[in-house]
Amino acid sequence: MGLRIVMLGAPGAGKGTQAVQMAKEMGVPHISTGDIFRKNLREGTDLGKKVQGYLNSGALVPDELTCEIVAERLQEEDCANGYILDGFPRSVPQAEMLTDFLAKRGEKIEVAVNIDVSDDVIIERLSARRSDPETGAVFNLLFNPPPPDMADKLIQRDDDKPETVKARLETYHETTEPIIAYYDKLGVLKNVPGDDAGPDEIYRRIMAVLPQ
Ligand code: AMP
Repeated sequence: MGLRIVMLGAPGAGKGTQAVQMAKEMGVPHISTGDIFRKNLREGTDLGKKVQGYLNSGALVPDELTCEIVAERLQEEDCANGYILDGFPRSVPQAEMLTDFLAKRGEKIEVAVNIDVSDDVIIERLSARRSDPETGAVFNLLFNPPPPDMADKLIQRDDDKPETVKARLETYHETTEPIIAYYDKLGVLKNVPGDDAGPDEIYRRIMAVLPQ
C-alpha cells in the first residue's frame, strides 16, 4: 500500500521536482493542481478560461473550484494505492475540505512533507526557472539546465517573473503557510530543511523521514 502524501513548501521550494521523483519511485500518481490548471489553460478548456486570470497574476484559484477538480482526480482508479499531492492544499479551508473528503472514504493523509526554504533562496531559484510552452516541461538554469537545442524555445512563465514571484510569496505566507501547523496538529508533519541542499540531497532527506 502506497502512502497518501501532501507536499508543502513555498513556490520554488522544489515540491514539484521532489514529487515527480517520489511518485516515480513509489509507483503512485503525482497530482499537481498547477499542472492541471496550466494544461487546461494551454488547451483553452472552460476550466482554463476560468482560471487564467488567477494564474497570470499569481493569485489563488478559489477554494471551491480547486477542491472540485482535486476531488474528481482523487476518485480515479490510479489513486487507489496512494498519491503525491503537489500544490494542493494551498489554504486551510482546502486542507479541511481534503480531510473531510478523505474521512468520508475512510482515508486520510498519512504524511505532509514540508520543504523549508527561505524567501531569499526561493527568489534566486524561481528567477532561474524556464519552461517549455508546448509541453509544460520545467528546467532550472541552476539545478536542471535544459539541453542546448531547447534553450531558444524556452520561456519564463508569467508567474515566475519577479513581481509575480513576490505576490506568490506573499500569498504563500498569508494563506498557505498556516497549513503547516494544521498538519502538525494532525500529527503527520515532517519538516525537511531545504536551504542548504540541492534536489538529490533533499530527496534523501525526504526518504529518511517517510514512514517505512
Ligand atoms: P503552482 O505550479 O503549484 O505554483 O501553481 C500555479 C498557479 O496555479 C498558482 O499560482 C495558482 O494560481 C494556481 N493554483 C495551483 N494550485 C492551487 C491551489 N491548490 N489552490 C488555488 N490555486 C492554485
